Amino acid sequence: MNQRISRRDLLRTVGASSLATGFSGVLAGGAAVADEPQPSGFTGSVLKANVAQSTATCPTIVNGEVIQPQRKLSLLDQTDVLVVGGGSAGVAAAIAARRTGAQVTLVERYNHFGGLWTGGLVLVVIGHMVKGPKQVCMGIGEEMMRRLEKIDGGIMNRGPGKNPTVDAEALKFVMLDMVAEAGVKVFLHCWGVDAIMEGDAVRGAVFESKSGRQAILAKVVVDATGDGDVFAAAGAEFEHRTYNIGLVSRIGNLDKLGPAAKEGRPPRGLGASTPIPGVNWVNMLGPERDGLDVAELSRLEMNHRRQIWKQLEKLRKTPGYERVYLLETAPQLGVRITRTLVGVKTLTHEDIRTGARFPDVIAVGGFTEPKGEEWHIPYGVLVPRKVEQLLTAGRCISAALKTADNIRLIPVCFATGHAAGVAAAVAAQDGCPPRAVEVPKVQRILREQEAYLG
Ligand SMILES: Cc1cc2nc3c(=O)[nH]c(=O)nc-3n(C[C@H](O)[C@H](O)[C@H](O)COP(=O)(O)OP(=O)(O)OC[C@H]3O[C@@H](n4cnc5c(N)ncnc54)[C@H](O)[C@@H]3O)c2cc1C
Repeated sequence: MNQRISRRDLLRTVGASSLATGFSGVLAGGAAVADEPQPSGFTGSVLKANVAQSTATCPTIVNGEVIQPQRKLSLLDQTDVLVVGGGSAGVAAAIAARRTGAQVTLVERYNHFGGLWTGGLVLVVIGHMVKGPKQVCMGIGEEMMRRLEKIDGGIMNRGPGKNPTVDAEALKFVMLDMVAEAGVKVFLHCWGVDAIMEGDAVRGAVFESKSGRQAILAKVVVDATGDGDVFAAAGAEFEHRTYNIGLVSRIGNLDKLGPAAKEGRPPRGLGASTPIPGVNWVNMLGPERDGLDVAELSRLEMNHRRQIWKQLEKLRKTPGYERVYLLETAPQLGVRITRTLVGVKTLTHEDIRTGARFPDVIAVGGFTEPKGEEWHIPYGVLVPRKVEQLLTAGRCISAALKTADNIRLIPVCFATGHAAGVAAAVAAQDGCPPRAVEVPKVQRILREQEAYLG
């Protein structure tokens, strides 16, 4: 990716690109599969006729309760490092583990990578700098932003002391390109629903998809679901938290405002600019709610959509803003914090305030403004207290509630993801539990992979 590519080329490439999915998706050596030839018309075939599945494993009602019978699961894959969740943390973890030499499988419930950064339309990257100004969240996340710079309209506001804003589609493309290039095996449309246990050790995870309920076995699992779905299922201790849940949207035609828009103060709800001219992203705080309660999530989704639409109608009645339109609402609800791990170590607000240092530092965080000292993140916040062969990364790491607005920021998530990926690969290769990895070795590899550790 040495040349800048235009937005049109990017969209064409994304449309034609065959992301490496499933067993045949990644060639030996890690190259992505070639584009499939595009048929000129509709084609279809009957794969099997008169199919009827066995109901022997269907849940039944026993004494008024729904009971799931015991059943054997087919094996979807077997790997060294299994990363569940393809957000900023999970993608960084998968690429890092693969670059460290492990076989890696990355599983994501939606159809793209990036999590809240792309699907949640959270486009502005904050929390990566300290006084100087100096950027302290580096490594794979920084590489993503460098690649975005080469795409016309991929990223704006890059540079010392600035908070860059990305284009979600360009970032989805960059992420899939980097994942395929690294040789990570990918399963999309695949929802992690359980942990596979042997005593206190995680041996893999169970997934639901259109292919049914299947298992993936692994030497080490990285829970990058943001909500700790895997560590919760594995019996690791966690804190269940409520937090603000919003829904982000994008509005367009802001470059086509009428002359009346120049008069008076701009109306509320205009959001902030994006790399696409005339398009703004509009953040939403939302009420504090439980992001693990599906009835609550459904209510919020409906209320937020109504609110966004009403806000748009109001905006359109403002003189000069008649042509503004709603480009999209985020495909992913803006759930900020739900479960956080109770780890071997827990980062405190005091650690951040005083810029604490740790011998097992694996990532460094900063602030939205280029002021303050860097604060260090110890390896222990990724490691559960008891469960083995498991690490976590991203917004669900072990950190006090008061630190939530620092640790959940995108650069911190991609930095902890990077670290979890390297540590998982080292554990798998050295045949030791993640809690016993040689941290200096992890730190050396992280530095080689251009992470900043102070
Ligand atoms: C409304 C809002 C505004 C924000 N504003 C900013 C901001 O301005 N700047 C900033 O830096 N940060 C901001 N943040 C925080 C930041 O966006 C997130 O904390 C960060 O992106 C989280 O990254 P992650 O990889 O840990 O989790 P996520 O991005 O949530 O990624 C988790 C991934 O795992 C997948 N997944 C989840 N469960 C499963 C499962 N069971 N099986 C398979 N896949 C699963 C998800 O689909 C997702 O892709 C904001 C957050 C919100 C919600």
